[in-house]
Amino acid sequence: MLVDCKDIYTRFATYTVGQLSWPVCDSDNYKFWGKCLKRETVYQPEVPELMTEYVKCKKCYIVYAKNVVLGYSLYTTPSKVDKRIEGLGGLMPEDPIRNNFNLELIKSVYGKSSDFSLFDVGCSGGEFLELALGSGIKAEGIELNKEFAQEARKRTNAMIYEGDMCEISIARKFDVIQFTEILEHILEPNKFMNKVWEILNPGGMIFLTTMPNTSSIQIKSSKCENPMIRGTFSHHVLYNPSAIRFLLQEHGFSRIRFYHYKRNVWSIKDTLMRLINLFGYFDNQVIATAWK
Ligand SMILES: [Zn+2]
Repeated sequence: MLVDCKDIYTRFATYTVGQLSWPVCDSDNYKFWGKCLKRETVYQPEVPELMTEYVKCKKCYIVYAKNVVLGYSLYTTPSKVDKRIEGLGGLMPEDPIRNNFNLELIKSVYGKSSDFSLFDVGCSGGEFLELALGSGIKAEGIELNKEFAQEARKRTNAMIYEGDMCEISIARKFDVIQFTEILEHILEPNKFMNKVWEILNPGGMIFLTTMPNTSSIQIKSSKCENPMIRGTFSHHVLYNPSAIRFLLQEHGFSRIRFYHYKRNVWSIKDTLMRLINLFGYFDNQVIATAWK
């Protein structure tokens, strides 16, 4: 729940800030986790309300912003996104490789046949949908951003819903629902997960990724100094594998499994990470599947 909302006027833009309470569980037993003392893309020392403080819930292990700044990225058209505030946006160079990795993982975990329906939550310009459709999967998507939704329709000819998934009616159910890099932006994860459950077929599977992983070496050593946190106003709720497990179990999901992102090329860094991951889950991204 977001309460005590107020508008903050700066020389760059108008922001809405509010207090976030108990996004996942009902416990208010939390501890201080970190504070953004400056932002990657805009430095605004004159606005203390924008210096987000993050706390960690001792019961469900999420890390969340106490004071949420509602800025731009998800709610305005790409042309209007202030590049000083939200970075450059658009596809990262690694994204097509990740899309391929995600699709192969979904296919191998769900089963060998491509004969299933898939719903891509936050499908952006339809890049992943295009891949999925190309391999015979019956895929549809939903996108909050009008321009991206239009781009996705053009690219795929698929059914693309437009709007907030929790607010609109979705006529059918799916065998697989994927939400990659979505959860960290969601202020009310319980409402979101209820909707996912509602439109997932019995026996269906979810595939999710979220970044950053608060148990990763990068985040543990840099916390709010990390660009994944200070570089954006829209990473409100941060997870690690324990927090994901808590959230999914609370919503009735079972057979929860975690995976490591693997590139096809060999590198010293990847090999080191594989060794380190023998002692825990230290990747920057949490990747998981679970079943209804
Ligand atoms: Zn909690």
